[in-house]
Amino acid sequence: PSGRQRKPDWIRVKAPVSKGYNETRQLMRELNLNTVCEEAACPNIGECWTKKHATVMILGDVCTRACAFCNVKTGMPRMVDPLEPEHTATAAAKLGLEHIVVTSVDRDDLPDGGAGQFVKVIQALRRETPDTTIEILTPDFRGKMRPAVEAICEAGPDVYNHNLETVPRLYPTIRPGARYYASLRLLEEVKSHNPMIFTKSGIMLGLGEQRLEVHQVMDDMRSADIDFMTMGQYLQPTPKHAKVEDFIEPKTFNAYGSIARAKGFLQVASSPLTRSSYHAGDDFAEMRTA
Ligand code: SF4
Ligand code: SF4
Repeated sequence: PSGRQRKPDWIRVKAPVSKGYNETRQLMRELNLNTVCEEAACPNIGECWTKKHATVMILGDVCTRACAFCNVKTGMPRMVDPLEPEHTATAAAKLGLEHIVVTSVDRDDLPDGGAGQFVKVIQALRRETPDTTIEILTPDFRGKMRPAVEAICEAGPDVYNHNLETVPRLYPTIRPGARYYASLRLLEEVKSHNPMIFTKSGIMLGLGEQRLEVHQVMDDMRSADIDFMTMGQYLQPTPKHAKVEDFIEPKTFNAYGSIARAKGFLQVASSPLTRSSYHAGDDFAEMRTA
């Protein structure tokens, strides 16, 4: 009745209270770092932060776009923080991270779309925490994709993640400002630039997509040589955001996961609470020992 939909039992999550949670939160504050965990109101924050796994969001906390599913603030972004690369490396060192995920808001206002800051962050991490594997989750760098991808690939992250978010038919309402095929091309470009970098992408389910459309996205991802795929339930962050059309049952997530594996992805994560950075390090640890 309030306009918010009742969540099924399999979506409920524990409140974030633990020593690890508070320590992670305090460290991020001290270092002036933003996290997508907080900004996107991620349901896994209690679990992840207790384990000191957090996803740093660089280039500020204000985005130049306004996707219908996303809780990050929109507007005029602030100046880029020159200390952010060092601070990110300090956070990785203090949290003792084996694997770090670094993402950003879209910065369509910057001449390089923010690619230079990704490069500096990767370099600082390689210098300060050489054993930490690095996963970056970037925007689409609209209009400046090729130079941005080239610069970032030169810096050499271990995993390059860019989410397709949803099926192409829903782009105009859910992801306006982005183009489905441009996002696919970005990931193709990463592979052609450096085949040693694992590529990764994901979609949210529950936005009204059809089963065959999901299968088509998997095929498109495989044709772009994408290695890892994630699928999770879309949750409406506030009543102003896109509505949840369906709560997909866990068994359907499992079925999608099996289909994706059969299509040849190296790693697949598919469950209601899967987010593109959820258990990201575990996937990669498995890959390393494989
Ligand atoms: Fe943060 Fe990702 Fe964990 Fe969510 S799943 S709390 S965004 S690290
Ligand atoms: Fe959110 Fe990214 Fe869309 Fe910006 S571009 S509104 S951060 S999903």
